[in-house]
Amino acid sequence: MKRAVLAVLIDAFGYDLLDRHPFMPELEDRRPLATVAGFSSSAIPSLLTGKWPNEHGRWFLYGKAGETTPFSSARLYAWAENLPKIGIRARQRYEREFARNSGIDEYYHLYNIPLKYLPSFDLPGKRSIYEPGAIEGVPNLFDKLLEHGIPYASWNWSTPEEKNFAELHASIREAKLPFYFFYTAVLDGVMHATGTESAETRAVIESNQQSIREAVRIAEEKYDEVSLYIFSDHGMVNVENVIDLMGDVRALPFVEGKDYLPFYDSTYARFWFRNESAEKSIRALLESAPGGRLLAREELERLHVWFPDREYGDAIFLTDAGTVIAPSFMGNEPPCAMHGYHPEDPGSNGMLIGSRTIPAGVTSIRDMALFLEQEARRAHGTGP
Ligand SMILES: [Zn+2]
Repeated sequence: MKRAVLAVLIDAFGYDLLDRHPFMPELEDRRPLATVAGFSSSAIPSLLTGKWPNEHGRWFLYGKAGETTPFSSARLYAWAENLPKIGIRARQRYEREFARNSGIDEYYHLYNIPLKYLPSFDLPGKRSIYEPGAIEGVPNLFDKLLEHGIPYASWNWSTPEEKNFAELHASIREAKLPFYFFYTAVLDGVMHATGTESAETRAVIESNQQSIREAVRIAEEKYDEVSLYIFSDHGMVNVENVIDLMGDVRALPFVEGKDYLPFYDSTYARFWFRNESAEKSIRALLESAPGGRLLAREELERLHVWFPDREYGDAIFLTDAGTVIAPSFMGNEPPCAMHGYHPEDPGSNGMLIGSRTIPAGVTSIRDMALFLEQEARRAHGTGP
């Protein structure tokens, strides 16, 4: 009996979007997957390791720098960043230099983070989470496949989606592998830019559906049994409200970068304090800011994102679903849709749909690593 498992991770394809967009209706087992606090930078490691963010260590893309940081040379360019004309060029040159020399193979983006602050930050994720050995001491799905000697192929954001689907189809046609892992972030990007209901969003979902059906069609010719699982790491919510938290904090009588260091994500604002009066005033502002709230330590602990060394901030502010912070370090303009809201907000749920009956216990993205490992072992004939 020749078996294949196709595992397709569609970034940001939330469970509630399935109600609004017809997608693979032939697959009957459909369920929400609880996500974790943060963005894909925490959700995908949780999905692939089965661990909470405070166990695998990756919460946000950016955390506080330790003794060394790959961003130390940003200092050399920072003096120019606010000057007309050469500011943009200085930034572009630094971005190119960083891409060439940093050796980071995990996803990152410098967005609009001020160059002068970059040396204060680090990227907690440096090795690609889609490779074995990505997180020291925390095995991911690919470590497990290696451990069991299961041959597999995988594709991710680092190569273009169209090419990836073509390679997936070609690889399945060769029919040599029991496990195929395919990640796509195209839908995530299109929804950020155009919203969850746009014609562009519809077109991406339709095109993913076609490419996945084609993969299944080829697989069914070559294998006796094909199991297809399509899942996502978190949902997506249309943006309805914008707050200028950065402007409000900057209006306080403190010097940014000296009295406090901020990081303004689109739905989170994080602060490291360097003196008591700045801490008191900023906390008071965050406690009464409309459109979001300061997360108390108890809640961070409950969500498994309490980091005692405060790598991700002394104070963590999260916006309400549908609200974003703009301008932010992510950009000046608000996106049309966003994620990274409270993980218990219904719009935050990821989803799982499958061609075979999925065990009832698979209810969270953290259940996916073990579930896929077991499916891969079954297909390979080395299962329990
Ligand atoms: Zn996104």
